Amino acid sequence: MEAASYEALTVDTLGPRLCRLPAMQERLGADPSGWRIREVGDGNLNLVFIVESEAGSVVVKQALPYVRLVGESWPLPLKRSFFEYHALTRQAARDPGRVPAVLHFDEAQALVVMEFLSPHVILRRALIDGRELPHIGHDLGLFMARTLFRGSDLSMSAAGRKADLALFAGNVELCDITENLVFSDPYFEAELNAHTTPQLDPLVAELRADRDMKVTAQRMKHLFAAKAETLVHGDLHTGSIMVTDDDTRVIDPEFAFYGPMAFDVGMLFSNFWMSYFSQAGHEHGGSRDSMRAYLLGVLDTCWTTFRNEFAHLWRTERTGMLYQKSLFEDRGDALGAEQALDHVLHELWVDLLGFAGVEIHRRILGLAHNADFETIEDRGRRAACEARALKFGRHIAVNRAQIHGMDEVNALARRIE
Ligand code: ADP
Ligand code: MG
Ligand code: MG
Ligand code: MG
Repeated sequence: MEAASYEALTVDTLGPRLCRLPAMQERLGADPSGWRIREVGDGNLNLVFIVESEAGSVVVKQALPYVRLVGESWPLPLKRSFFEYHALTRQAARDPGRVPAVLHFDEAQALVVMEFLSPHVILRRALIDGRELPHIGHDLGLFMARTLFRGSDLSMSAAGRKADLALFAGNVELCDITENLVFSDPYFEAELNAHTTPQLDPLVAELRADRDMKVTAQRMKHLFAAKAETLVHGDLHTGSIMVTDDDTRVIDPEFAFYGPMAFDVGMLFSNFWMSYFSQAGHEHGGSRDSMRAYLLGVLDTCWTTFRNEFAHLWRTERTGMLYQKSLFEDRGDALGAEQALDHVLHELWVDLLGFAGVEIHRRILGLAHNADFETIEDRGRRAACEARALKFGRHIAVNRAQIHGMDEVNALARRIE
């Protein structure tokens, strides 16, 4: 099939088309008549098949030439599968064991065969159900520090990083989705926008007339587009993370490109804050006080772990062309290197608050909403949760330079009306 032109798989054609692949035979055995195949894609963009046999299991993810959420009227290039494959291999090298193992890649068919994560569930779903996963803050803090540090000029050779920058520069259309859907559309009456109406109408009008917020969102867009700092995951929300009580995995890096470190961290944190604000809409089964405290604790752990690991890598793996040891430690000026580290982490903190605030807005005002809020059936109740999140997002984005740490943000989350 390598030579054949692209054709979308179906549950009926997958077996005959892929059964000769060594990667499939090794995991599933050679006889496709015993394979059980189901399509489970619940994302916005792609086909995802689970294939199981007596011998084992795999996932086959295939890009479609259009946006699944919208339909064939919105074309989207198949090459996103190429970027997903290359991002997965880099993340696997930079933080081993945190992404599903890649078993096979076919560029023409835009498909990746990978490890089937089971009994993992999507983290967003687990948080809606009120599950307190014990390891996510730690695991994700490490994942972000390692992937973001090791993909940057702090670590890579200048030539190696520039080659990777060039490779991922082709991911134009997926960046374009973020550039428009995240940073611009929420702040005017874009056609595909939606919000809980009429309850949120006044607040939405207020935000769209808020000059400071609009300028902030465009400054964050400017950073997103211009600060080619490291290979970011690009879509690091709680729907791109699969969990068990003991394991945390990051999936779906098709939006990967060279951008600011703070983008991944800000997007992930915003999703924990949105989960926090949505908990009040899920209290029919009992109080979510413990869940709320848990979520703020996850943010705290994740940020502390991130900073500690980043600082560790700064001290032990700073082999790139930035802040060379030859200027600092090698001349007996370890303090200079620590001072530079403080600046880098401080800038990252300020920027992540900007990205987080904008991401909250777009998930409530834009095209792609979050199940955290969408599954709250009572519209009045949902709108009350969303309104608090919107105000919180505005506050942390616009005032990002004056907010001094996670305690201060989490205290704001607790008291915002
Ligand atoms: P999309 O790019 O369309 O959002 P995802 O990669 O997020 O696709 O996958 C969609 C869904 O398929 C996930 O939410 C998850 O339920 C399931 N899935 C994806 N990859 C795996 C995997 N390796 N193991 C188990 N389930 C997976
Ligand atoms: Mg999903
Ligand atoms: Mg996805
Ligand atoms: Mg995706």
